[in-house]
Amino acid sequence: MKKAIDKNVYTQSQTNVTILSRLILYVNNKWLNKKIKTITGDDCMEKSLLADASVRLEKALQYVSISEDAIERLKYPKASLSVAIPVRMDDGSLRIFQGHRVRYDDTRGPGKGGVRYHPSVSLDEVQSLAFWMTFKCALLNLPFGGAKGGITVNPKELSKAELERLSRGYIEAIADFIGPDVDILAPDVYTNEMIMGWMMDQYSIILRHISLGVVTGKPVTMGVSQGRGTATATGAFHVINTILPKYNQKPEETTSAVQGFGNAGAEIAELLGNAGYRVIAVSDSRGGIYSEQGLDIPSIREYKQNNLSIKGVYCQDSVCSIVEHDIITNEQLLTLDVDVLIPAALEKQITADNASQIKAKYIFEVANGPVTSSADTILESKDIKVFPDILVNAGGVTVSYLEWVQNRNGLYWSLNEVKEQLKSRMITETQEVWKIATKSDVSFRTAAYIHALDRLNDAMSAKGTRDYYSPC
Ligand code: NAD
Repeated sequence: MKKAIDKNVYTQSQTNVTILSRLILYVNNKWLNKKIKTITGDDCMEKSLLADASVRLEKALQYVSISEDAIERLKYPKASLSVAIPVRMDDGSLRIFQGHRVRYDDTRGPGKGGVRYHPSVSLDEVQSLAFWMTFKCALLNLPFGGAKGGITVNPKELSKAELERLSRGYIEAIADFIGPDVDILAPDVYTNEMIMGWMMDQYSIILRHISLGVVTGKPVTMGVSQGRGTATATGAFHVINTILPKYNQKPEETTSAVQGFGNAGAEIAELLGNAGYRVIAVSDSRGGIYSEQGLDIPSIREYKQNNLSIKGVYCQDSVCSIVEHDIITNEQLLTLDVDVLIPAALEKQITADNASQIKAKYIFEVANGPVTSSADTILESKDIKVFPDILVNAGGVTVSYLEWVQNRNGLYWSLNEVKEQLKSRMITETQEVWKIATKSDVSFRTAAYIHALDRLNDAMSAKGTRDYYSPC
């Protein structure tokens, strides 16, 4: 078996990784990379999201040796289910919605991943998100594989009752595909704890017994873990707080801009503000606001809660009296001259089209896939440090794991216990990624993939590979 650069490589001196050995690994893996290209498509054509996601894998493969079996398996989602969900609307009409659930890989444990409600949801998008979950769970050393789900819908157009019927209909359609030992759901864009509660309830109705562990991110009264609601942002905050001191970047001297003001974005903005960072711009789907002296995030959150968009804050109500600010577009927010840029909305926000205009020094990807692979190249050439989604936003799935453990044990931990576990796991893996990146002189994204790939390869190899059958 071609056992990779041994894990020890990253704990031993960098001198062990000579240029020559890297070259050998590169050549060894080149033909494997070629194979991956067969699914990633022609570079000249616009890549599908999954193809773009696979480019990251390609880069990491140049630095690890991995069994051929593992490569073959990671090229394809293990199982994809697309369903039609009939929903009786409030006016009596029937509408059919398209839903998907994808289990990308479950070598390290049951699939784990959120469910997204958005008009742009497609099978390609769900497969890419499931791919990222596979690497994220491995990176955080969680005993899960990667999965994801979604429904193509604009949830804002549905009444609450319609949304409930849609959510329950989705579970009816995918019930045989999920389960606490098979594939576990969670919230994602435009889904929340209320929707997770309906989903867990519907699954329990189908099974005729309570099944708390099939969904995480549930309501308080249905077995959610303490700290789940803020876990993604809290995890991201630990990554930022671990990384920035390495560059001698102090909170009070650091400006930041956050794109997306939902579960993850609003919370990370508030955590940064509380810790003394100057958050000078935030935005949501309708636009953003900017103030050089810094925004008061709790007031904006309160305002948004009551008025639904950030743009409405401009020169109205209490926020205006706290601090003066300008209206900016989402495009302007991304190109602001800040130290830290945090995309926390959707994928493909920084692309080859706008990457050259980015002025931030550090990008922390709280959203999944906000930077495309072609943008990565441009940002790298500008020496902009990008900290990847599979590390930065992994706090959510980490506390989901803790919730799943608590649901199965029936014993619940205090908020402090959960916070401590989250902090320790996030800091440990961030330090490991930093070590790999600096020792192997690769981007933080590639380092994160190397780290995850190593764990995935170990798990796949433990189950037996073709090398077992090679002649001695
Ligand atoms: P959310 O639905 O709560 O919030 C999304 C926010 O993005 C909203 O404020 C929305 O108005 C804004 N938005 C949408 N389109 C935008 C655009 N074009 N420009 C600017 N803002 C826009 O979703 P969330 O749970 O906060 O998730 C945000 C991102 O974080 C997603 O990529 C999601 O996959 C990722 N993520 C979330 C979690 C979690 O636990 N919530 C965990 C891991 C990753």
